[in-house]
Amino acid sequence: MEETPEFIPISYLNAFAFCPRRFYLEFVLGEMVVNEFVLEGQQLHERVDQPGRMSREEKQQWRRIYLAAPVLGLSGYSDLLEANSHENSAAGLVELALAGQLYPVEYKKGKLGRWVSDHVQVCAQALALEEVLHLPGGTIRQGFLFYFGSSRREVVELNSELREKTLAMLAEARKVAACNKLPPPITNRAKCRDCSLENICLPREAQMLQQKLRLM
Ligand code: SF4
Repeated sequence: MEETPEFIPISYLNAFAFCPRRFYLEFVLGEMVVNEFVLEGQQLHERVDQPGRMSREEKQQWRRIYLAAPVLGLSGYSDLLEANSHENSAAGLVELALAGQLYPVEYKKGKLGRWVSDHVQVCAQALALEEVLHLPGGTIRQGFLFYFGSSRREVVELNSELREKTLAMLAEARKVAACNKLPPPITNRAKCRDCSLENICLPREAQMLQQKLRLM
């Protein structure tokens, strides 16, 4: 039995929501493939991952904020925390959050949110932020996904359904990380085509082998 990890990194929770096998390959076994799409994403992120605080168009922004939430057992970076307030505002992060003005923004390559895993990642950032700032659960009501491909933001409503789903996935990811067993491949071919680990995972071969073993 593997040891249960104290913290699940927020980006790996995205991987779990996308496919538990991918999460295990990356988080437990340390597999990573840098293909042209992964590299493109890394390069696009480098442009926005410069830590710092700035003001623009009646908004305050804090980039590349590290969040560690020990009660939840979640840690990781928020690409951007943004608040609808001007730079001379005396309000701190807690006041801005309580006023419904503070929200996380996650940057993604591509054109639109294809997979709910990106929503889970934004929700996990909000949950961690609420813990870090000692805010009541549900204070941060929305977040955003920004897609480089379309230069547009998609709003992510952080409703109770998404919060429950995110917490359930976090609990499940922790169990999978500790169970010492590679989860089976998913059957969503479109996801596998989008997955950089396909050549390591070999989903079709693994499924055929499972079928043969069931017939024996
Ligand atoms: S190739 Fe498919 S089954 Fe394998 S890790 Fe990727 S998404 Fe999961």
